[in-house]
Amino acid sequence: MFIRLLKYNVFNGSKSELMKYISEFSKVNIVSGNPEVLYNGLYNDLLLKNFTSPSTVIIPDGIGTLLASRIVGRPVKEKIAGIEVMEDIVKKCEKKGKSIYLLGARQQVLDRCRENLKKKYPLLNISGSHNGYFDLNDCENILEDIKSSNPYAIFVAMGAPKQDIFISQNMDKLPCRIFMGVGGSFDVFAKKVKRAPKWMIALGLEWLYRVIREPSRIKRLVLIPKFLLKVIDFNKSRSKTG
Ligand code: UDP
Repeated sequence: MFIRLLKYNVFNGSKSELMKYISEFSKVNIVSGNPEVLYNGLYNDLLLKNFTSPSTVIIPDGIGTLLASRIVGRPVKEKIAGIEVMEDIVKKCEKKGKSIYLLGARQQVLDRCRENLKKKYPLLNISGSHNGYFDLNDCENILEDIKSSNPYAIFVAMGAPKQDIFISQNMDKLPCRIFMGVGGSFDVFAKKVKRAPKWMIALGLEWLYRVIREPSRIKRLVLIPKFLLKVIDFNKSRSKTG
């Protein structure tokens, strides 16, 4: 059910298999494994420890990760978009009466995201929320708020690596069952940003759509070839030693 990519195990199944798989954990961190996130992990011990821990499940998100799986000769069956997993967890929480906490984004975006989620899922219990603009090393008040609202799932939308650092630093301290870094997903639920049309998603061109809408993102694309080169190098050295 997993493929090996660099130092990571990456989930290789469908979204419904993932939902079933994560339900068996007493505590789990779901990482949207796009090239940026996985590349960051190679150069940060805290992140690497978390991403390779038995409580973390990395999902193949992003065309770069799909290409990388082909390079290592184990193409993943499907791309799993983090935002869709978030929405499936939200639906499950609404159905089962479990609460969620939203952490991240600018206050206005967060408020709109909250409102829109409540409109779409009226029975959803959002036990708390906080914007994503705070010091990661000085956030006791936020941790206390999360602890006291005791959510089943927490979604952290602060972009990489901030959201992953927050989760790595605090996963053991917080009572939540599911942790998930969801990047710009609150912007999408708030309708500040649109997801690419379905045909572009199907062709693996979501990145292109996002760059056209927000040209400043182009800088971040450099990481994809860097990541792929790393995968090629890693693969070569493994086949030499193996
Ligand atoms: N963000 C945040 N705190 C920060 C920096 C960013 O909450 O210190 C939020 C930002 O407002 C936006 C999201 O994180 O809502 C960034 O999403 P991005 O588009 O970078 O993530 P991606 O989907 O590309 O992973």
